[in-house]
Amino acid sequence: MQTFQHYIGGAFHTAETQFESRDPATGEVWAMMPEAREADVEAAVQAAEDAFFSPDWAGMTASSRGKLLLRLADLISENAPKLAELETRDTGKIIRETSAQIAYVAEYYRYYAGIADKIEGAHLPIDKPDMEVWLRREPVGVVAAIVPWNSQLFLSAVKIGPALAAGCTVVLKASEEGPAPMLEFARIFDQAGFPPGVLNVITGFGPTCGAVLTSHPKVAHVAFTGGPGTARAIVRNSAENLASTSLELGGKSPFIVFEDADLDSAVNAQVSGIFAATGQSCVAGSRLVVSAKIKDEFVARLKEKAEAVAIGNPQDMATEVGPLCTAAQSAHAQGLVAKSVACGAKLVTGGQPMMRPGHYFPPTILDCDGAENPPCLTQEFFGPVLSVTSFETEAEAVQIANDTAYGLASGVFTRDLTRAHRMIRAIRAGIVWVNTYRAVSPIAPFGGHGLSGHGREGGLQAALDYTKVKAVWLRTSDDPIPDPFVMR
Ligand code: NAD
Repeated sequence: MQTFQHYIGGAFHTAETQFESRDPATGEVWAMMPEAREADVEAAVQAAEDAFFSPDWAGMTASSRGKLLLRLADLISENAPKLAELETRDTGKIIRETSAQIAYVAEYYRYYAGIADKIEGAHLPIDKPDMEVWLRREPVGVVAAIVPWNSQLFLSAVKIGPALAAGCTVVLKASEEGPAPMLEFARIFDQAGFPPGVLNVITGFGPTCGAVLTSHPKVAHVAFTGGPGTARAIVRNSAENLASTSLELGGKSPFIVFEDADLDSAVNAQVSGIFAATGQSCVAGSRLVVSAKIKDEFVARLKEKAEAVAIGNPQDMATEVGPLCTAAQSAHAQGLVAKSVACGAKLVTGGQPMMRPGHYFPPTILDCDGAENPPCLTQEFFGPVLSVTSFETEAEAVQIANDTAYGLASGVFTRDLTRAHRMIRAIRAGIVWVNTYRAVSPIAPFGGHGLSGHGREGGLQAALDYTKVKAVWLRTSDDPIPDPFVMR
């Protein structure tokens, strides 16, 4: 049985309370995790604040911060197999995905290493002859970063990378589901040579850890990824201190296929769009919106692929779909499928948890044409369940695509260039992928609107969002300032 520790103020600590972590592939307890409560959160925030004001960090040049981030990126690359193995073990995300994703996580740190000394101020052409006015960009302060279980190393990189590039310090709360990769990441971070307290990694539960962290008066910004319900609680908590927030939430993203699309590519993109990460992906293309002219053929091809997927041990490189992270996720998917079927949705394939140890739920397709408001069209499964709706006209495709309270991602498959442009304008989402799906890069911003949250991660702007502008006024005249109480 492995035991993990918190990382606070540059040292590893055993928490007073521990909790069990289960292997999603077997349902067995495999490790003990430290549980952060109020005192641990307090220590982590204090360490982050001390580091923020310490000469070692506050006085470090931006170029040196960049060099440390580069060193961290190299260490992540060196340790990628170990991190991938741990993430797979603790969350059930398949090894072929964790291996590829963690290799790419290093690129996010490399990108923000390069950004560190490119966060520039500005000189203003002020309307007064004897004044110089310029803007300094300064780090916002202590950042609370909170992530869910899926892709924690990736979701934390898009927070830690830009925050440290900007000169902030961070308390990262890993998810209580599968925190092992983040706690191991702390060991790697420790070797990179940052001053103590620049990053602190803890884990714990929402009410006793997350809520304490996000309502802490010394936290200047909360960077959150998770569900909309938790986001509301976080905004309420952070409002007490007027901390700023960036919220990366869920989605019910449309995947729109026109009859002129390259169907081989569209089928493959839809399969990975919904079944990759066993559907536990915020950008999952969970609503197929398909032309009625090709619906039957398209769904038949998806069904064939869904039923041929290799489901199995997530540590096996041949596995294509692994278990869901928790038993609760599996029960949630089962319940939503049943409710949708009761509303008239037709089960094309899947729909029931698999009869084997672990939290296995098979690729599932629901045909929603003719159904009466099935919840599968509006509620996020965060599981491998695809809902299908067909359309007759382009206008109808747009109407169905936008019929959601979310607005994170979308996909459009068509060979018609002018139609593609019309769709790009019409779709309300933070990302539109045309003839592709799921592509991400540190260079491109990522985020949504509506119930999908606000703020963007990735790109230069994300680093600027961890800064605040200070306006500096300098009087250049040597003439004495006149006495304001002597009338002239
Ligand atoms: P969740 O909101 O339940 O939990 C996320 C994190 O918030 C966890 O670390 C949890 O401990 C913490 N938390 C819970 N209550 C809290 C509170 N009161 N105060 C502070 N922190 C609290 O989300 P989940 O179910 O673990 O994850 C799935 C959700 O995350 C889905 O909705 C998914 O779409 C979303 N997600 C979004 C993105 C994105 O980038 N947009 C990426 C991945 C996942």
